[in-house]
Amino acid sequence: MTTKAWGAHSARELLGPLDISRREPGPHDVQIDIDWCGVCHSDLHTVRSEWSGTRYPCIPGHEIIGRVTAVGGAVTGFAVGDTVGVGCMVDSCQSCSACEEGLEQYCENGFSGTYNSPVSDAPGHTLGGYSKRIVVDEKFILRISHPAGQLAAAAPLLCAGITTWSPLRHWGVGPGKKVGIAGVGGLGHMGIRLAKALGAEVVAFTTSENKREDARALGADEVVVSRNPEEMKAYRSSFDLILDTVSASHNLDDFVSLLKRDGTLALVGVPEHPHPSPNVGQIVFSRRAIAGSLIGGIRETQEMLDFCAEHGIVSDVEVIPIQQINEAYERMLRSDVRYRFVIDLSSLEG
Ligand code: NAP
Ligand code: ZN
Repeated sequence: MTTKAWGAHSARELLGPLDISRREPGPHDVQIDIDWCGVCHSDLHTVRSEWSGTRYPCIPGHEIIGRVTAVGGAVTGFAVGDTVGVGCMVDSCQSCSACEEGLEQYCENGFSGTYNSPVSDAPGHTLGGYSKRIVVDEKFILRISHPAGQLAAAAPLLCAGITTWSPLRHWGVGPGKKVGIAGVGGLGHMGIRLAKALGAEVVAFTTSENKREDARALGADEVVVSRNPEEMKAYRSSFDLILDTVSASHNLDDFVSLLKRDGTLALVGVPEHPHPSPNVGQIVFSRRAIAGSLIGGIRETQEMLDFCAEHGIVSDVEVIPIQQINEAYERMLRSDVRYRFVIDLSSLEG
């Protein structure tokens, strides 16, 4: 069926309206009419082919919340009218060891992303949530239990939430742990909120002097302007974990030096250009680690959503009509968003 969407035909083009086609729901499929879709920096990296390999037309969007409008005959977990979410993945092999452990994001045969992954449906690759409707296998659908008034603000949990939750859990963040969150953007502001909710001592690192107060309001015990070497020095060798959400290339040594012995710098930001090679001595002499983490599995995403619903946790959002998406990208590049744009898809009707 034909569905209205917004996307781009090439890396150099602005996003604009497009008609796309969605498959009729198969036996295991759930059809969702999309109400809200968050705007992730990965959308921008992909539309502009900053990671190369973007397939066009490109329709981004992987922080989706909407209502079920049809289900296939074999669907057991969802019914018409349910409020549901879709994150960064729409399929995986379901048989490799990663999938068997509920870690579909590390599927050894490659998961299918919500956009830009090869698929048999036209036009040959997946198309994301900047659209009115999507059809997804029920295994990749999440239950949303936030109240109706919080759904726009809950949408970013589907990527920004799980991408920070998963490493915080993996590295055992909780009471007694000191955690740094580098970059107070879409991911970073959720990282601060979630690390605090998990009981850790949280320090936010920002390059934006004007985010100091916000970062505290989000739950940071202390805020450091990372461009200020004197401020940074005071935190040497004190962190168990630093979660680096920065979207641009930067010097990792500044953060490695703040880790305790055996501490970890976990990278989640994926910049267009590589970081300068880190200082090996700093890592070796204190058995520190530089690691990475990719979104989170479906089971873990549901756990995070339920935790957030229970604790009243959502994202700070600025709701925009789809017609403002190009301007929103420019503002995101200037770190001028508090702290996630969310598209109101009812704006696609007009
Ligand atoms: P965002 O909202 O644009 O936030 C990025 C933040 O990085 C900015 O707010 C800014 O924070 C900081 N920053 C930007 N440019 C900088 C620079 N030149 N030097 C230092 N700091 C800079 O982006 P996002 O949506 O949170 O995404 C962040 C990154 O994570 C992107 O690369 C995205 O693709 C990636 N990502 C990865 C995963 C994963 O699974 N690993 C999932 C989603 C997204 P301050 O103003 O506080 O300095
Ligand atoms: Zn994302």
